[in-house]
Amino acid sequence: MWKKIIFAVQKSSKNMEEEKKTLNFLEEIIEEDLRSGKVDSILTRFPPEPNGYLHLGHAKSLCINFGLAQKYGGKTNLRYDDTNPTKEDTEYVDAIKEDIKWLGFKWEKELYASDYFQQLYDWAEQMILKGQAYVDDQTQEEISAGRGTIDKPGTESPWRNRTPEENLRLFREMRDGKYADGEKVLRAKIDMAHPNMMFRDPILYRIKHAHHHRTGDKWCIYPMYDYTHGQCDSIEHITHSICTLEFDVHRPLYDWFIKTLDIYPSHQYEFARLNLTYTLMSKRKLLELVQKGLVSGWDDPRMPTLCGVRRRGYTADALKMFCDKIGVSKRDQLMDIQLLEWCVRQDLNARSNRYMVVQDPVRLTIVNWPQGQVEWFDCPLNPAEPEGATRRVPFTGELLIERADFMEDAPNKFFRLKPGGEVRLKYTYIIKCEEMVKDADGRIVELRCSYDPSTRPGAGEWRSVKGTIHWVSRAHAKEVELRNYDRLFTLADMSQVPEDRDYKDFLNPESLVLATGYAEPALLEDKSGLAVQFERTGYYIADPDGTPEHPVFNKTVSLKDSYKPE
Ligand code: ATP
Ligand code: MG
Repeated sequence: MWKKIIFAVQKSSKNMEEEKKTLNFLEEIIEEDLRSGKVDSILTRFPPEPNGYLHLGHAKSLCINFGLAQKYGGKTNLRYDDTNPTKEDTEYVDAIKEDIKWLGFKWEKELYASDYFQQLYDWAEQMILKGQAYVDDQTQEEISAGRGTIDKPGTESPWRNRTPEENLRLFREMRDGKYADGEKVLRAKIDMAHPNMMFRDPILYRIKHAHHHRTGDKWCIYPMYDYTHGQCDSIEHITHSICTLEFDVHRPLYDWFIKTLDIYPSHQYEFARLNLTYTLMSKRKLLELVQKGLVSGWDDPRMPTLCGVRRRGYTADALKMFCDKIGVSKRDQLMDIQLLEWCVRQDLNARSNRYMVVQDPVRLTIVNWPQGQVEWFDCPLNPAEPEGATRRVPFTGELLIERADFMEDAPNKFFRLKPGGEVRLKYTYIIKCEEMVKDADGRIVELRCSYDPSTRPGAGEWRSVKGTIHWVSRAHAKEVELRNYDRLFTLADMSQVPEDRDYKDFLNPESLVLATGYAEPALLEDKSGLAVQFERTGYYIADPDGTPEHPVFNKTVSLKDSYKPE
């Protein structure tokens, strides 16, 4: 299964000649269209259905649609695909805008499919009058059964040969609310034996007595996706309508409506949707997780939603770097989530502030430290900027270090603290472990060490030791709640959930582990708004659940990983 995971890392190149070679298929199409004069400039659109929050897959679509427009001096519309009033809500409309802004994209116009309901309706009447559409009284089941199969032609509806006048009257009655949901539909009259099942008299309108988040109760008939999408593109003069691969079977019908109505010829192009290991991106399932309380909300830091990963500490730049690396392809792929995590680390490593936080502490006493003395060290906030800002870290004779940084019976390769061994306490002195104190159960409760004053950085000649560990002053340490997150699911390829199992069976019971951290005081003064690095551990971001009395930090990603993109 791992063999299926593809790393399509594109090399960025300054060299024009090489850049030419690495154009993706959409760029090739656009360059050709601009060169041949088929279009003067490009206009793309991002068409979310406001029935849930945006997720990482949408980020890929956003990067493609906005990215292409940016690259070729074009524009992108934000168009809500709001034709299904029962599932849609303004809560989602607002959240979607916030997420797109967070990614740093600016849309040209904010539009709604519902803006075009009247135009779509008028076109439907036009089709009826031309004998291209009819009102069908069959039930949903009869219609489905009558469509036939790929090998077997469908059967014509008994209502198929109504006159245009009768169809017009019935369609207007549908619009005026004379019928109940499901009583009638409007269908295109195409070909019940067509080899592409999409053409077997597709449904154009269904009755839904439902309140719409924008048009209210004005309409009780709503257009279907296929009848809507291409026409909306056409009305806006979208030049390149880019969507995911599963829509390729819809493309002939998209073209058919445009041709039949004789309107602006927008074109549809399909790319492979993003699938990530250990991740689900179906809005329906994400909604179920929220509704069943299996996560704390759409913005739970374990969710693949943009608001979730943002709360987790992922940055917009990291997501864009990821989308750039995976590129655009026409083959379905399962991408390794480690590539995304690698991008997050790359971005945060360059710009996040550093602090020391101990999670599983053991006391360390410096036996030759002057009683009660506090020494403040100015430590760089980011070592990549040696001349940059610093934070002040207090050093005393009573410290905390990670329990795992000491080992009693240490193997040769263990370079951290061991009995009689030396280690540098990060930014400060070299210490030597003189003595261990154990409790009645044999558990180490204190490490007694001596320090060498001549090893203070800058004090004299630099002396190296193999190990450096982080620490905090016990009296100054601030307690913080740590929410250590891991993958939400345990199955790498969530499309392979066996038939007899439910995807929820694969929820990772350890996706959230709470811990207490003991932090150097400067952590709580951090104003960067970005995830910070807990030195030697990982990246963490302050969570809005925290208060000054009870700070909370979410784990963004651990610091090290053997993973390297190809
Ligand atoms: P879901 O199946 O999760 O409900 P959707 O496709 O119905 O997603 P839309 O709101 O209709 O969600 O999607 C808006 C745009 O984002 C569409 O153009 C769609 O093709 C694209 N998109 C959705 N999911 C992905 C994905 N995983 N990878 C890339 N693009 C995606
Ligand atoms: Mg959709």
